[in-house]
Amino acid sequence: MRFDVITLFPELFAPHLALGVTRRAFASGQVDVRLWPLRDFGEGAYKRVDDRPFGGGPGMVLLAEPLERALFATYADRGGALPPVIHFTPAGRRLGQALVREMAVGPGAVLLCGRYEGIDQRFLDRHVTLELSLGDFVLSGGELPALSLIDAVARLQPGVLGDEQSHQQDSFGADGLLDCPHFSRPESLPGAPVAGGVPAVLLSGHHAEITRWRRQRSLELTAGRRPDLLADARAAGKLSADDERFLASLGL
Ligand code: SAM
Repeated sequence: MRFDVITLFPELFAPHLALGVTRRAFASGQVDVRLWPLRDFGEGAYKRVDDRPFGGGPGMVLLAEPLERALFATYADRGGALPPVIHFTPAGRRLGQALVREMAVGPGAVLLCGRYEGIDQRFLDRHVTLELSLGDFVLSGGELPALSLIDAVARLQPGVLGDEQSHQQDSFGADGLLDCPHFSRPESLPGAPVAGGVPAVLLSGHHAEITRWRRQRSLELTAGRRPDLLADARAAGKLSADDERFLASLGL
């Protein structure tokens, strides 16, 4: 799959693409990320890419024409079918794991990173096929949302995580629940009288009990923090009779 990222700040991407488990997906080309510096498509000697908004008001707007030149350059470079064109904006659909899973087996996309007040609406109306938001807050650019999407898609690629089961057990994984809490050494944290110990079952070596404990913590956490996810899992038939018995014991 291939992501073409149109951005004013390509430098923001390099460190992320070289680090962590996902770097394998990028280095192997399994997830091919190509950066298109918007400035290269700017206007005149100063490579202008932004201007004041018609109607006045604060801030600058990214110009339609440089963006269009950059977009057409990605199309020419790809050849073949036109990819989805994704614009990151607070006004978009909230990015979630269901979409990440879909994209993980798709062809990739062109990712448009806004800056300043945003992008000229006429360009968006002509070319964008999907608008995505990272959440109800305002960032200074679309680069972090683009990196978030690329990272989430890369970690789902076969062979990227050491353990293929890992992402099934993550939050929003196979059963749609939140992940359980995790613990590691030491068994007891010095100077931490409250919550200093590790739950005994995790030290018992009893795999069935450990699996049961993890499942119950996951159900409990999801019920407490995201009852909407629990309801979805129930409706989708992803809860077992044991799960239901446990939830009933909690009065849920
Ligand atoms: N004036 C815009 C508004 O209020 O919706 C905010 C512009 S913001 C300063 C600059 C760029 O950051 C946006 O064009 C968008 O690409 C990106 N951005 C900011 N917050 C975002 C979010 N929550 N999700 C996705 N992209 C975001």
